[in-house]
Amino acid sequence: MVKKINIIGSGFSSLAASCYLAKAGYKVEVFEKNSSLGGRARQLKKDGFTFDIGPTWYWMPDVFERFFSDFNKKASDYYQLNKLDPAYQVYFGKNDSVIIPGSLEEIYQSFEEVESGSSKKLQKFIKKARDNYDIAIKDLVYRPGVTALELITPATATRLSRFFSNISNEVRKEFTNEKLRQILEFPVLFLGAKPSDTPAFYSFMNYADFGLGTWHPEGGMYQVIKGIKELAESLGVKFHVNSPAERIITENGKAKGITVKGIDHFADIVLSGADYHHSETLLPEKERQYSEKYWKKKTFAPSSLLFYVGFDKRIKNVSHHTLFFDSNFKDHAKDIYDHPKWPENPLFYASFPSITDTSCAPDGKEAGIFLIPLAPDLTDTEELREHYFNIILERFEKITDQKLKANIIFKESFCVKDFKEDYNSYKGNAYGMANTLFQTAFLRPKLKSKKIDQLYFTGQLTVPGPGVPPSLISGKLVAGLIEKHEQH
Ligand SMILES: Cc1cc2nc3c(=O)[nH]c(=O)nc-3n(C[C@H](O)[C@H](O)[C@H](O)COP(=O)(O)OP(=O)(O)OC[C@H]3O[C@@H](n4cnc5c(N)ncnc54)[C@H](O)[C@@H]3O)c2cc1C
Repeated sequence: MVKKINIIGSGFSSLAASCYLAKAGYKVEVFEKNSSLGGRARQLKKDGFTFDIGPTWYWMPDVFERFFSDFNKKASDYYQLNKLDPAYQVYFGKNDSVIIPGSLEEIYQSFEEVESGSSKKLQKFIKKARDNYDIAIKDLVYRPGVTALELITPATATRLSRFFSNISNEVRKEFTNEKLRQILEFPVLFLGAKPSDTPAFYSFMNYADFGLGTWHPEGGMYQVIKGIKELAESLGVKFHVNSPAERIITENGKAKGITVKGIDHFADIVLSGADYHHSETLLPEKERQYSEKYWKKKTFAPSSLLFYVGFDKRIKNVSHHTLFFDSNFKDHAKDIYDHPKWPENPLFYASFPSITDTSCAPDGKEAGIFLIPLAPDLTDTEELREHYFNIILERFEKITDQKLKANIIFKESFCVKDFKEDYNSYKGNAYGMANTLFQTAFLRPKLKSKKIDQLYFTGQLTVPGPGVPPSLISGKLVAGLIEKHEQH
């Protein structure tokens, strides 16, 4: 008999899992609380402007290709991918920026221009980063985090020191120029912890950045969600929006379905791709694996304050992705991780997709997304949002040498409160649980419930971790476990 699976949530991990499970012959239905699919990767459309609400950096194109090839498809069957050149730009002060070009050879040259002799060091650094990438992304991250033994391979056994040193030490040992150091520490911020708390092994993110490049799907990241949805529907997956799961139904230690708006939807298996902490609150307390104390002790990735702004003119002196590292990163990191509070002088990120993709804004106008990383669970008020918008806009105008305040057509914001309300996110985290040494692989919350049979989890709080590529992999891993344990 065909087994039925109900999936909670429609983020990248749930969508990926739905495709694998439908292909394996299960009857799959997805229940999403919001009115559109995609989770943190939803889209905002307003007055002819298009914004990605969440992810904007398309890294590791090989992971997306590997996903689609599992269904004999290619990314290009669903969206047009363009390599960004420059990949991004980093400002350190007024008229003081480093541009990261689109090819490794040109990046070596850019480094040499900033610090003589640094290109040779970078070549050595990238060689190691590539080696880590080959071990991690082509192999280790595709293991389900069931036991520690998964991490012990001939390749990792001979590279143990890379797990016990941290990325900050590795970078600072080799490079003396502070700008280059900050550029090399930037990619691991995607993993949610400070570079000094992230194992050196994660330098594979530097290979993803410089070696594989930064890409942009025409129309924005949401095109990827649309593509996977199309694939899922072609495989028979059924989607329900405006359908919040209120309860996971259990009986004699087994998951039996979910309750949505008071109606029971029975199934043989339940998979939740909603934030792990929230998913467990849908169970009676004694059936949860992880206590509130457990979650409180974990290092969570930051939350964020985001602005989506329509400008009535084109913006100069910036790139599609532009980072503003013109203030002290250590102070901002302390305000996120050590003594959580609103930062005094935050670093921020700005994205102007319409610079390379005309579909994102009307002619002669610019779409701008601004992001300030914040500690999770901070008090979030309209006044604070406004205060920080003014701080970064003023800095932005000064650094990039242009006036913009009068050119704002509209501005929407998104912060801690919205992460909690829209996604049931634990403490309003943006990127899930960080990948520190003790929150890696088998040390993360499990894909399969240890307490309830036929109940599974996926997404950025479980294996392998935060980010779009890991979420796609998480969907594949959990589908593999379900196939192993719940055969037809
Ligand atoms: C601002 C921001 C910027 C980012 N930038 C990047 C980037 O540039 N590149 C990158 O690779 N990654 C980036 N990320 C991370 C990436 O977006 C996430 O890791 C990934 O999208 C998470 O997918 P997921 O499937 O784990 O969860 P989610 O996308 O959170 O999906 C979970 C879904 O479950 C739904 N849900 C919750 N509770 C219920 C319920 N009770 N019933 C039904 N549905 C429910 C939610 O509404 C949501 O749709 C960013 C994230 C954010 C927030």
